[in-house]
Amino acid sequence: MLAAEAEGIDVQALVDRKAEAFAALRSPLALSLDDFIRTSSAPRHRIGVERLWRGCAAAGDPCRKEYEGLYCVGCEQFYTEDELVEGQCAEHGMEPELVTEENWFFRLSRHADRLRDLITGGALRIEPAARRNEVLALIESGLHDFSVSRSHSSARGWGIPVPDDPSQVVYVWRDALGDYVTSLGYGTDDSLYLAGRTTRR
Ligand SMILES: [Zn+2]
Repeated sequence: MLAAEAEGIDVQALVDRKAEAFAALRSPLALSLDDFIRTSSAPRHRIGVERLWRGCAAAGDPCRKEYEGLYCVGCEQFYTEDELVEGQCAEHGMEPELVTEENWFFRLSRHADRLRDLITGGALRIEPAARRNEVLALIESGLHDFSVSRSHSSARGWGIPVPDDPSQVVYVWRDALGDYVTSLGYGTDDSLYLAGRTTRR
């Protein structure tokens, strides 16, 4: 959004150009694809993201909280002081801004026991073992709730609106990572999605 503003063009025009550049990689990288999904324009993705949100809402997972933190606009992410390198985002070499916002948070903290049981019991398999241990260590260190929305005004309306709350848009990574299931039809035609779940078991 900021890059488009700097160029004086619509956000849509900028992301269309970027998407074309990524899609064009299929030839030099000799990729064959079953599917190519764009999270900003595919209606099936948006429908799936809304369903995922509503499913979590029905389970009582999102809650609204006022939050103040150090925010890197490049990463679209809040950082704690000790995650910064000499006060700057390691990725962007920029000092994050102090931002106060009211957002929706996912109550990850209350899922620690269940996640640990699913992983140690083998229902959720993480390979290789080193990554599994990394995840278990992360759970042991204490899971924190994290914000899963941004204010509509600070995002200038760019993003999928939070169902039943037009003042917020879904946080980019909460939205984008949903494409692993929305590309399989989660929310629109579940047959591929459900087939994938069965095969993995
Ligand atoms: Zn950054």
